[in-house]
Amino acid sequence: MNKRLLELIRISNTVGQDTSLVQGGGGNTSVKTDDAKYMYIKASGTALKNMNSKRGWRRLKTAAVQDIFADKSLPKMDVSSRELEVVNRLLRTCEDDVSGKVRPSVESPMHVVLDKCVIHLHAIAAQAYTSAKNGKSEVLKLFKDEQFPPLWVPYANPGFELGHKVFRLVDGYVKKHGRKPSVLFMQKHGVLVASQSADGALELVRKVISRCLAGLGQSEPASRLSATKEQIENCKHNITKALFEKTGRKTNVGFCLNRTVKQFLAAGHPWQMLRAGALTPDEMGFVDSPILWLKNCKYQTVAEKVRTALSKNQALPNSFLVKDIGLFVAAEPALASAVRDIVVASLFIRRNAHNMGGINALSSGQRDFIKNWEAEKFRVQLAANGG
Ligand SMILES: [Zn+2]
Repeated sequence: MNKRLLELIRISNTVGQDTSLVQGGGGNTSVKTDDAKYMYIKASGTALKNMNSKRGWRRLKTAAVQDIFADKSLPKMDVSSRELEVVNRLLRTCEDDVSGKVRPSVESPMHVVLDKCVIHLHAIAAQAYTSAKNGKSEVLKLFKDEQFPPLWVPYANPGFELGHKVFRLVDGYVKKHGRKPSVLFMQKHGVLVASQSADGALELVRKVISRCLAGLGQSEPASRLSATKEQIENCKHNITKALFEKTGRKTNVGFCLNRTVKQFLAAGHPWQMLRAGALTPDEMGFVDSPILWLKNCKYQTVAEKVRTALSKNQALPNSFLVKDIGLFVAAEPALASAVRDIVVASLFIRRNAHNMGGINALSSGQRDFIKNWEAEKFRVQLAANGG
């Protein structure tokens, strides 16, 4: 097998195991061939930890991807037809033996313009900064001794707009510093590192994460909270019942009380930190309704909260944080662990961003774009499956 593909699988599997670095199918990785003509990149919809020699990646022609972003007609197109066009063009840049219409990551363009090995993560330690109001200045402070500072990427809608923005910003960085950035902090999104070698990229991940964590300072000690079995079962029962009342379906409800959840519950005003809506496009994909705060787990309390959420035209809530007890997640078994990991990540980011200077969540306009874009992606998926 190609050596670069082997490297891609190795770095993907390494970072993909750690839910503080990526959750669900999030994040992506790429490795370019030595002549830089091709780039192996994670396929859309596969988890990094599940990538292997047969699946989870595509090989595309780098020059062809560059051409898409040099095309002056695309920025002028209306959003929905443009996003569809970009997905189709990205598919046509693929040159490999992968059967079917497995799509390369929509974030491929960001990878093409950077050094040989790229790792993009939704790493909570970095996201505490990218989701904080004063995140940019805190990041620059954190890396002030570096000759080549990280590149801060202001929020852009996912898909073409983000790719386009990264293209322009990297270009500007090269003009200023004489080389490409090796660390990119992407507002309300995540972090990206690039290096000429796979080990160099992994090392950079470790360095960036440990520096971010150190900057977050001492985290409050987790409280010695412990819920009884009866309390947990009672909560599960009442949440299931309240959701059943709305859907007519029995949903699987799971419980989680790890260090992050305990720290969040022990913080001064946990409900305030939940008020801000989804933090990132990724969070929106899994948790379309705010994480609900419950002062207690009585049936009436849960039912009332669910009713209120629905009356505000929000999606059916799937995560519930109960005072003094813990986190409950209602999701289909196949999605349960991904939703839990995303919610736990969100709790970590919210608490730290709040402490840093305030949470900077997605605006309603940014959320609307993602809703439409997701619908678009779904159509594309259907089209892809239908041939
Ligand atoms: Zn991402």
